[in-house]
Amino acid sequence: MSHTLFAALNLIEPGDIVLYHGSIPAHHGLYIAHPCTCFDCARADHLGTTDVRYRLTDPFDENTDPTTLRCVRRRSITRSAANA
Ligand SMILES: [Zn+2]
Repeated sequence: MSHTLFAALNLIEPGDIVLYHGSIPAHHGLYIAHPCTCFDCARADHLGTTDVRYRLTDPFDENTDPTTLRCVRRRSITRSAANA
């Protein structure tokens, strides 16, 4: 699928920079988005859910385990203009 079509559908591509504005204010900010592949999401996917969840990593965190947030709802993130 072309980059333009992804943008038109407002989809989040793996590796996109996104702005998190969900239910945890302490974590609000910019992250790199990935599809969430945890056990819970894999099971939900297997059961046919259309509620896609994302795993967010902090691009500025040098921690060895950079995963900061998981199972983030689509409505909690916005694709950043920094991708343009
Ligand atoms: Zn998950």
